[in-house]
Amino acid sequence: IERTLSIIKPDATRRNLTGKINAKFEDAGLRIVAQKRIHLSPAQAGKFYEVHKDRPFYGELVEFMASEPVVVQVLEGENAIAKNREVMGATNPANADAGTIRKEFALSVGENSVHGSDAPETAKEEIAFFFSGLELV
Ligand code: ATP
Ligand code: MG
Repeated sequence: IERTLSIIKPDATRRNLTGKINAKFEDAGLRIVAQKRIHLSPAQAGKFYEVHKDRPFYGELVEFMASEPVVVQVLEGENAIAKNREVMGATNPANADAGTIRKEFALSVGENSVHGSDAPETAKEEIAFFFSGLELV
């Protein structure tokens, strides 16, 4: 059993899509074991996405992620990291498969509704970035 960090991004929380997105996770067999709504500061968003700091879209990405509240959550299941990324769909909604979250809900490659960890090591770091041990059972 594996855990991954998921973020429902501002474009989706703003449009009241949290429930519809969570239904996609649950239908795929992922269990939401922790969840909270927070408003990231630009500094916090910048730190979370530090790995992209040299990419041309970094400033835009940080500004977007700090623009409005997000829902951060821990998803659990068999192969949760890969399964979550499958349910999310490709980064650019234009390339995402039918039925995926990004195909159905994303507005653009930047405002693409969800984030998901990409590997076991990053999942561990990203979960610890947002949740304390006490918040996880
Ligand atoms: P995430 O890390 O959010 O789950 P991802 O792993 O599919 O998405 P990354 O390459 O890690 O994609 O990019 C991180 C985020 O940066 C993307 O989800 C998107 O919001 C933003 N981003 C990526 N490429 C672009 C781009 N060309 N223009 C604008 N924003 C982008
Ligand atoms: Mg990524």
